[in-house]
Amino acid sequence: MSKKKKAKFQAVRGMRDILPEEQPYWDKVRKVVDKVAFDYNYGRIDTPIVEPVELFERTTGKDSDVVKKEMYKFQTASGKKVSLRPEGTPSVVRAYIENGMRTKPSPVKLYYIGPMFRHDRPQKGRFREFFQFGFEAIGEQDPILDAQIIQTALRVLSSIGISKTALQVNSIGCKECRPNFNKLLVSYLKNRRQSLCMNCKDRLKTNPLRILDCKEEKCTQVIAQAPQSVDHLCPDCKKHFTYLLECLDELKITYNINPHLVRGLDYYTKTVFEIWAKDDEEGRTALGGGGRYDYLVEKLGGKKTPGVGFAIGIDRVVDEMKDLKVKVSKTPSPQVFLAQLGDLAKMKSLSIFQGLEKAGITVAESFGRGNLRVQLKKANQLGVDLVLIMGQRESLDETVIIKDMVGGNQEVITLDKVVADVKKKLAKIKKEARIKK
Ligand code: AMP
Repeated sequence: MSKKKKAKFQAVRGMRDILPEEQPYWDKVRKVVDKVAFDYNYGRIDTPIVEPVELFERTTGKDSDVVKKEMYKFQTASGKKVSLRPEGTPSVVRAYIENGMRTKPSPVKLYYIGPMFRHDRPQKGRFREFFQFGFEAIGEQDPILDAQIIQTALRVLSSIGISKTALQVNSIGCKECRPNFNKLLVSYLKNRRQSLCMNCKDRLKTNPLRILDCKEEKCTQVIAQAPQSVDHLCPDCKKHFTYLLECLDELKITYNINPHLVRGLDYYTKTVFEIWAKDDEEGRTALGGGGRYDYLVEKLGGKKTPGVGFAIGIDRVVDEMKDLKVKVSKTPSPQVFLAQLGDLAKMKSLSIFQGLEKAGITVAESFGRGNLRVQLKKANQLGVDLVLIMGQRESLDETVIIKDMVGGNQEVITLDKVVADVKKKLAKIKKEARIKK
C-alpha cells in the first residue's frame, strides 16, 4: 500500500483544523452555552488572545505548570512581554477592573468562549490550541453562588447531552488557614521525599499543594495518607464549605469530596471543583473545573472583590459527545441545484442564484463545470429537491427548465417567475413529504 504523501505545510504540532463535518458538534456546544448564559443572566465578554505575561504570572501563578512550563511567551517589536492566553479567568478579571464593572449590580456575571494555548505534550484530549467556555460571577462571597456556578456548569453539560458526570469538590482554605495546612503537608511530604516523582520533588519547594493531585503511581501512594485540607479549615472556610454541600444536597446534585483535588492555578480559595466524565476514574481528562477566587481582583490592583467561576474544555466535550453518540443536527442539504450550459447561461445563472438566495432558498451550483451530466450527478449527490437547468436555448429565450427531483416531472418557466415557482414547488414537495410520514 502506498504511503499517503505528507503535505508540505502542516498545522503546528498540537494544533488542528476543525473541519466542516465536525462543526455541528461545535455549533451545538456554542448554542447551548449562549442559551444557558442567557437563562442564568451572564453577559458575553470577548477578551484579547494576547495579554501581558505578567497578568498570568501574578494570578495563575509563576510556579504553576501552566505559566512555568506551558505558556507561549514572546516579545513584541516594542519590547513588551506578552503571551497567548493559557486560560480565561485572569483576562476576564482584568477586563472587569479596567472597564469599571464594579459599579454594576453585583454579582457581575460574564461568560466567554474562545481558544486557549498551552505548550504541553500533545496527547489524547490535550492540545496546544484548545477551546474553552467559562462563566465568572464576580462580587459575591456567599457560598450559594458556588452552588449556582456548579449547577450552571452541569446544566450546560446536560443540555449538550452529557448528563452522566462525576462532580468532585474540595475546599483548599483561605489566607488564614492554608499556610498552616501547607506547613503540615510539607512536613509530611519532606519525610517521604525519596518516594516522590522528580516533578513533585521540585513542587515541594514551589507548589506543595499541587503534589496532592499528581497522578504518578509513586506519588499516589504517598498522597493516600497525606493530611487533608478539609480537616484543617478555619471556621469561616468550614462554614462556607458546609453550606455549599447543603446547597448541592438541596439541588440533588451528587458529589464526591475529593481531598486530592487542588486545581493547578494559584488564585483559588475555599471551593474548588472538577467535573469528570463518568468513565474517567482519575480525572486525567476532566471536562472542566473551577472554584472561588476571592483575592484575584485585589491581586490585579482592584478593590477587594470575591468571585467564583468555571471553565470547560470544548475539545473534550466534543469527544465525549461522540462517545455518547449525542445527536447533532446535520448541515441541511441545499434545496435547489442550478445547472447551466454555455457562456450566456452561466452568466445569467449568477443573478438567478442571487434572486433565490435573497428569497431564503438554499442553492448549490457548479459554475466551474460545463458538462451537464456531471452537474446533474452532483445535484443527485447533494439530494436537492429541485434542479434548474439553463441551456443555450433557455438563456436566449429568458427561460429555465425546472425539474422536480422527487416526482420526476419538469417544465419550462420564464425567468421572471423563477423565485415564485421555486417557492411554490418546494412548499408542495414539503407538504407531500409530511403526508407520506
Ligand atoms: P483548566 O483551565 O486547566 O482548569 O482546564 C479546564 C478544562 O479545559 C479542562 O478540564 C479541559 O477540558 C480543558 N483543557 C485544559 N487544558 C487542555 C488542553 N491542553 N487540551 C484540551 N483541553 C484542555
